[in-house]
Amino acid sequence: MSFFLDFLFPSRCYSCQKIGQYICPKCRVKLINKGIDPFLSKKLEASLSLFKYHPPLIKVLQDLKYHFITHLADELVEIAVKEIETRYPSLLKYWQANNYLLIPIPLHQKRLNWRGFNQSALLAKKLAYNLKLQYSDQILFRLKYTQPQAKIKNKSFRATNISNSFSVSTLVTPPWRGPVGNVKITFSQFTNIILFDDIITTGSTIKSAVDTLTKHNFKSIWALSLAG
Ligand SMILES: [Zn+2]
Repeated sequence: MSFFLDFLFPSRCYSCQKIGQYICPKCRVKLINKGIDPFLSKKLEASLSLFKYHPPLIKVLQDLKYHFITHLADELVEIAVKEIETRYPSLLKYWQANNYLLIPIPLHQKRLNWRGFNQSALLAKKLAYNLKLQYSDQILFRLKYTQPQAKIKNKSFRATNISNSFSVSTLVTPPWRGPVGNVKITFSQFTNIILFDDIITTGSTIKSAVDTLTKHNFKSIWALSLAG
């Protein structure tokens, strides 16, 4: 099926239009590195955004959000994994050695029903698998149905809009199966979290999620995004 779709709709580079990949190797090296921000929130260890939110990533991430394109997600994950392994190898080893659990910023159930999938969860799950980290989308939930952050221009309105939006599930039934080697893991094994979102701009969403997580005995929290 995917071969057939590739034949009908071949992947085309978002930047130079060359056929074969969504971001071709020549254009991948032009993506601008962003890096670690230690000051996003006092409750965070730090926040790592891999690339600057510039073209072609803007269009790529918008398309992924509104159209479920698995190949596009696979390519983004491939790019992110390579970036983390080559630029931040010690950080990755530290995350692996200290049992960091990768969790995506959740969507409200209503928006999830409407859109059909959560692009951050789709990316985070593949990313966790490839980086040999555990993953769960059963810990953090969204209680409040809010306006999309991107539609709100004022920074303080964005913070108010998203505040107290999240909840941590105490109903997680351990053990659940992680993607790495089907090992049974339990909730209490994890005190360290990497919160993943596709894009981190003002950080209001991340800060609100971190506020909620820190009330539940999570010791160390990192934020990770593809773009920022
Ligand atoms: Zn290209």
